[in-house]
Amino acid sequence: MRAIFRHEVKYAVRSGGHSGMSGWSSTEGGILISFEHMTSVSYNESKDTVTLQPGIRWGEALTALEPFGVGVLGGGLSFLAGAHGFSVDTLLEADVVLVNGDLVTASATNQYNDLFRALKGGANRFGIVTRYEVRAAHVGTKADKNFIGGTIFYDNSTSEALLKATAKFINNVNDPRASLLSVFSVSFANNTLFPINFATFVYNTSSPSENLPPGLYDDFLNLPNLGSSVGRSSYVDVVNSLGTGTEGSGQGQMFGASAFSSGEGSGYARYEDSYRKFGQYVEAVRAKPNATGPPSSDDDPTKDGVEFAILAFTSVQKSQVQVGRNRGGNVMDPPLRNYGLVQFHNQMPPNIDTVSRRVRDARREFLRQIPPSPGIPLYVGESDKEQNVFATYGRYEELRRTYRKYDPTRFNIRYTDGPIGL
Ligand SMILES: Cc1cc2nc3c(=O)[nH]c(=O)nc-3n(C[C@H](O)[C@H](O)[C@H](O)COP(=O)(O)OP(=O)(O)OC[C@H]3O[C@@H](n4cnc5c(N)ncnc54)[C@H](O)[C@@H]3O)c2cc1C
Repeated sequence: MRAIFRHEVKYAVRSGGHSGMSGWSSTEGGILISFEHMTSVSYNESKDTVTLQPGIRWGEALTALEPFGVGVLGGGLSFLAGAHGFSVDTLLEADVVLVNGDLVTASATNQYNDLFRALKGGANRFGIVTRYEVRAAHVGTKADKNFIGGTIFYDNSTSEALLKATAKFINNVNDPRASLLSVFSVSFANNTLFPINFATFVYNTSSPSENLPPGLYDDFLNLPNLGSSVGRSSYVDVVNSLGTGTEGSGQGQMFGASAFSSGEGSGYARYEDSYRKFGQYVEAVRAKPNATGPPSSDDDPTKDGVEFAILAFTSVQKSQVQVGRNRGGNVMDPPLRNYGLVQFHNQMPPNIDTVSRRVRDARREFLRQIPPSPGIPLYVGESDKEQNVFATYGRYEELRRTYRKYDPTRFNIRYTDGPIGL
């Protein structure tokens, strides 16, 4: 990093390479710093912490930790978030290579506490983390079947009911052991749309004999469905059953995000509105430009760069926000209430890395029509490159100040790709 800084070279940093943003963890004509070979994980029983190097995959980390009865929170949003906060809220200490090549250790209690907080939401703008020490989550071993969860699949005849159930859950449920992700997806093949919806949840029971709280997921469980994998399981098994993280690997992704506050209007209106506009987006992508009459068989949206489109909702509970605050806070600093994170996701077909202007314009228009509720922060891992995610953060001004302090020449912004707004 010192050499990159001195010689002013374009660069990028890659850990898992799973980011939906092209250019954020790859570079053309620059230097790529890859953590592919730094993949260690260890559990310190006396401190009850887990130390990870950046290249490890969450599945590998969970498998290695399971014999100790502990785990870590994967992604930025995890199924344990209600009780443990955003995954960044579990961070206790980080080794960080600053933009000029200096190596520092940041924690909530040392001289780099401002940097420490900025890392919790600041994405790749504040330095390169080479070691993470995080709180262990006591999830049990493979033999401990303390979780009930899985995925239920639906056809689109129940879309409205699923959407209502989703809004009701996100707005009202306050149970730190509960989680929910609802997904409305449409695949495009030739000129045919294949809608499929699903709800994924994981519930942390206190013992293998405890059942789901009555009513909590009934709206989802009672809807006519196409199939379900919901069952009792250990943490590592339920998380691994939900996917390996290599789905869509090598295919281009286009993300976009919004966030709906629970305090808004009827609590359902924004969900209904976004779903209707998502339907309009799908039609716009499907329709042939300047076409008259019904779409024809050569009107294939996959040629325009869309294999499938998704509108997904993740619940963020008040308890999740509270845990983050109790642990020193993060720069997203959401208000203390439930809200829903909204993700708009398009996957491109294999070997296609660009979309037509028609798709680009339709995506922009859809995102413009579903702005986040005032004061609710977007989640950077689900946002579009053009969205000013940092400006939605509760501690945006603090984030800017901290950035000026650690990168006074704005080297990171000038020489690597990442979120805008600093
Ligand atoms: C199909 C799909 C599904 C997804 N589902 C979820 C989900 O369910 N939940 C969720 O939370 N997220 C989800 N994501 C988002 C994904 O988890 C995030 O983009 C995450 O950042 C990927 O981690 P990574 O290690 O692969 O990052 P990379 O792609 O390697 O890097 C992402 C960013 O972090 C920076 N970076 C990487 N390593 C370091 C480091 N050591 N120090 C500093 N900066 C670094 C990079 O420069 C880049 O800007 C999904 C993404 C895709 C494509």
